[in-house]
Amino acid sequence: MSTSTRVAFITGAAGQDGSFLAELLIGKGYTVYGMVRRSSNMTNLDRLTALRHNHRFHIHYGDVTDIASIMRILTLAKKDYFNTLLNVKEKGYLEVYNLAAQSHVKVSFEVPQYTANTDAIGTLNVLEAVVQLELTPHVRLYQASTSELFGSTAPPQNEESLMCPQSPYAVAKLFAHWAVKNYRDAYNMYAVSGILFNHESERRAANFVTRKITKFAAALHRGQKSVLEIGNLHALRDWGYAKDYVEAMWAMLQQDSATDFVIATGEQHTVKECIEAALEVVGIPRIEWRGTGLSETGHNAETGDLLVEVNAKYFRPTEVDSLQGDCRKATDVLKWKHTTGFKELVKIMVLHDIQELGI
Ligand code: NDP
Ligand code: GDP
Repeated sequence: MSTSTRVAFITGAAGQDGSFLAELLIGKGYTVYGMVRRSSNMTNLDRLTALRHNHRFHIHYGDVTDIASIMRILTLAKKDYFNTLLNVKEKGYLEVYNLAAQSHVKVSFEVPQYTANTDAIGTLNVLEAVVQLELTPHVRLYQASTSELFGSTAPPQNEESLMCPQSPYAVAKLFAHWAVKNYRDAYNMYAVSGILFNHESERRAANFVTRKITKFAAALHRGQKSVLEIGNLHALRDWGYAKDYVEAMWAMLQQDSATDFVIATGEQHTVKECIEAALEVVGIPRIEWRGTGLSETGHNAETGDLLVEVNAKYFRPTEVDSLQGDCRKATDVLKWKHTTGFKELVKIMVLHDIQELGI
């Protein structure tokens, strides 16, 4: 006889966080239902052969904009949950992690309505599916909120900080954030939002700045690429390692009561510092920066070679200048703290990207 009910449903299961979370939960003995789209990029999951072949990991096609597909997968998870319930000593919950999103800020300016449908209405659909299936007392729901909600509010940002979104992505996520709070209050539902600051990894999509930089450093090391075209070099971000952050998601669903948490490292770095850290890993210890604004360039200080060039096409119509999280609440209540610092994170990513290029 097993000792507890451990069933989870993850939307966005093929994404960076979804893949780390699925591994974490399978490792803890959960049965996991993962939603992916027919067109989803499956690279992260395909590489995890141990996970793909695990009999407790079930992948199903669906889309958060299609409530019927959510209800179909949730019904499968529900049956599994109630079957397990008969055979366990310790009652658990059906955990729902809503990670599906059009997650790129710059892209959201190009496809704002699509972003709103997925990130705002998609979240409403997940909440409503739980209610319609009468699962409210049995479900614990995690919503992927974001530090982008703070937007133009000066750092450090915590759970009480003013939310001033600066992109269609952030506006859609703010709708989702408030929808979760409303369903929590209206239906007495255990539903929480994790306000996560930027988190990266070797599974991050290549169009986010960290991965673009670490892939560039790897290509430079292999002699394949010589100049990095980049946008705003001066934006400040609080970057952590995704593997640490999925631990916090899980911890948020194991508490006595439902409440939101900021998850961050508490440190901030510029995009420029990220470039410097990545190039240091491939043996370029110092970058010399010349010019300002659109004419700013970065050169190998030893050879003078041009390495970095600013290109306005990567600028956003409205930028979030400075994010730095204050996660004291998570440290106190969840006992969560990041384990991987900025330089170590960059190194993990660069070394992975070098290996990926082969010899
Ligand atoms: P990813 O973009 O890697 O993953 C998002 C996943 O959602 C993808 O697998 C994508 O699949 C899927 N998806 C997109 N649209 C839909 C849809 N309509 N229906 C079902 N699935 C869909 O993001 P991350 O893993 O980095 O982030 C996870 C969540 O956390 C996202 O909601 C993101 O906005 C949020 N977040 C992320 C932060 C970060 O720094 N990483 C910070 C704060 C919040 P497909 O390949 O089909 O597009
Ligand atoms: P975000 O914080 O969710 O928008 O994550 P990103 O990795 O997309 O961007 C982080 C910061 O890097 C933002 O302030 C961007 O404006 C800045 N940035 C500078 N150059 C680039 C670039 O070439 N691509 C991306 N994605 N961001 C860039």
